[in-house]
Amino acid sequence: MPITIKALQKSGPTAPFQVTTIERRDPRSDDVVIDIKAAGICHSDIHTIRNEWGPAHFPLAVGHEIAGVVSAVGDAVTRWQVGDRVGVGCMVNSCGECEMCRQGYENFCLNGSIGTYDVEDVDGTITQGGYSEKVVVNERFVCRIPDALELDEAAPLLCAGITTYSPIARWDVRQGQKVAILGLGGLGHMGVQIAAAKGADVTVLSRTLKKAEVAKDLGAARTLSTTEDGFFEQHAGEFDFILNTISAEIDLGKYLKLLKPFGVMAVVGAPPEAMQIRAGSLIGGNKVLTGSNIGGIAETQQMLDFCAEHGLAARIEKIGVDEVDAAYDRVVAGDVMFRFVIDTSTF
Ligand code: NAP
Ligand code: ZN
Repeated sequence: MPITIKALQKSGPTAPFQVTTIERRDPRSDDVVIDIKAAGICHSDIHTIRNEWGPAHFPLAVGHEIAGVVSAVGDAVTRWQVGDRVGVGCMVNSCGECEMCRQGYENFCLNGSIGTYDVEDVDGTITQGGYSEKVVVNERFVCRIPDALELDEAAPLLCAGITTYSPIARWDVRQGQKVAILGLGGLGHMGVQIAAAKGADVTVLSRTLKKAEVAKDLGAARTLSTTEDGFFEQHAGEFDFILNTISAEIDLGKYLKLLKPFGVMAVVGAPPEAMQIRAGSLIGGNKVLTGSNIGGIAETQQMLDFCAEHGLAARIEKIGVDEVDAAYDRVVAGDVMFRFVIDTSTF
């Protein structure tokens, strides 16, 4: 039997959120039913549902930072039991058989991984995200939330955590390196904590010094304001690695000058506008400009375990379902430290 639940949907890009009723599929034998306790608000939710990345499918519930408790399992489920504390991130299924899936890169499934929201599922329905009471997910796309982590502070790790952990791990960010985290929002504040836990000397590059105090508490050695006169000249050639989390259009060439020769900028921020740089910005100093897209499921579990081991979690502001429209405006204005998390008991 399909499961009828409440969700928070928009009927169009400018419509307000409304509590609606949706159906989750009749669980398949390898599905897990999760009672959602907390759902983080990622800037990608905003880009998507405001049609900033192209037309979304409405009515739509977004949300891909999900933490909850398993409430039912299908007959063939082997990894999970009722009562387990679990999380779901940006994907809910993939083919499981292609070269990418077999290597743990379900996010690059050659047959198309199924996103947690706004994507056509195998049954032709449009996936609906975590701003809802329950989710039904293939058991391979569920991660364990370690006991050391609170569910609401763990929810944002399922996107912001893995999206920053993955490039930091891939580019081997380590002690002895000067690392800049560009933009101190939801992703940025996890990037600071993870890079600092890896032993790097971390600098936050923010538009203002408003968050400097808390950045220090997160593990940053310093915060610099990118809008101060002479900033780009003064800090040219300073960093080995820059994690770029900015959600809006910037002059990338200016920021690439902050790298040492052979330095690496990993772009995770996904503004709607096209990036423009001159070839010289990369050629001068053999710089590497690379991208990074969330991470695979095994790596997401690794990240959760790493956060638990190092005492890292998201700094959150909990809100009710009726506060999400206002929260979106605050995220866009850069007015959140550092993630809004929807308390689903307010449905
Ligand atoms: P967020 O909390 O809004 O943080 C974005 C930060 O960007 C802000 O805190 C701000 O930092 C900076 N910023 C915003 N507008 C700016 C501007 N005009 N100029 C300079 N800096 C600006 O967003 P988020 O949830 O961390 O997401 C960040 C981006 O990553 C989004 O585009 C999102 O879609 C993308 N994303 C990508 C992936 C992936 O897999 N690659 C996964 C998740 C999200 P300061 O206030 O410190 O200046
Ligand atoms: Zn996200």
